[in-house]
Amino acid sequence: MSTNSSPPTRRSVLKIAAAGGALGSITSASSSIVNSARAAGTADHIAKGKRISGLEWKLLTKRRMSATQGVPPGKEDLAWVTNTVTLIHGPRDAVLVDTFLSEQHSKELLDWVVASGKNLTTIYVTHGHGDHFFGLKLLLDKFPNAKGIATASVVAAIQDQIKPEYIRSFWEPRFPGQLPSQLTAPEVIKGDTFYLEGEELKVVELGHTDTSHSTALYVPSIGLAVSGDGVYNNTHLYLAECDQAARDEWLRALDKIEALHPQTVVAGHGVLDPDSSPRHIEETRRYLRDFDACVGRTSTAIALYKAMLSLHPNRVNPGSLWAAAKAAKPSQKQP
Ligand SMILES: [Zn+2]
Repeated sequence: MSTNSSPPTRRSVLKIAAAGGALGSITSASSSIVNSARAAGTADHIAKGKRISGLEWKLLTKRRMSATQGVPPGKEDLAWVTNTVTLIHGPRDAVLVDTFLSEQHSKELLDWVVASGKNLTTIYVTHGHGDHFFGLKLLLDKFPNAKGIATASVVAAIQDQIKPEYIRSFWEPRFPGQLPSQLTAPEVIKGDTFYLEGEELKVVELGHTDTSHSTALYVPSIGLAVSGDGVYNNTHLYLAECDQAARDEWLRALDKIEALHPQTVVAGHGVLDPDSSPRHIEETRRYLRDFDACVGRTSTAIALYKAMLSLHPNRVNPGSLWAAAKAAKPSQKQP
């Protein structure tokens, strides 16, 4: 993960961003290590002799199967989803935001963090869905001085998710033989701010996004918002836990992220080589509004599913939409 020897200024980062795909990234069928100035953040050089943040960030993205089975035929080529984790680091220390779901991806994540050469101090978990924290135990075993942290509501949700009965009934059938054998919950964070090499990292309470009590992590010194699952990138939103009120809450969460005026927005679920552009805030908002409109003018799950697919034909993970459609039109439960 080499970085430029002299960190570019914000302007040069933007210029490089405009060059788009000319920059290198390593992509395989199942994972993408994003390692370009387009996607990896560099120090935010604030002009006129003010403080220069020493923080940078990089992403690791892994592709996995959808959690929803029994999706109507068609769109098989899009039937996958990614998870993305963010490593925020200074010259010495690092904070990891979220982990992966499977044991294999967790091991690969561990290798990636070790290879960074950084001292992992903290693993922050954005929300209580297993695909964001199942790897926690493996990381904490390797970095015993690191702390896993999350808000009290997220810790409570995680404690529910890792109950043996829930693992047996929900996660194991969906990802048979793939889950880490040992799972753990993070500790409750005190307050809403913690520090990495003297720089603030702020917890942003988002309310309900794709689950209740979601959060984002914002790093003001580099304009980085790690959105948890608040923002999606070219992926069908997971709306199965959302009624109308929750979708409204999600829209307000997007307003909150937007009000930070972030330069970079990391989506929890996106493409293999994400651009982490703030434009995905508006695209996520548009998807939610489209879903509301389609709920209003359809009466069955399949009609809702097809109406949304016609508006968003190229997003990955149609299974997520199918689960949402069945939840919104429960009279159409499939066998
Ligand atoms: Zn997720």
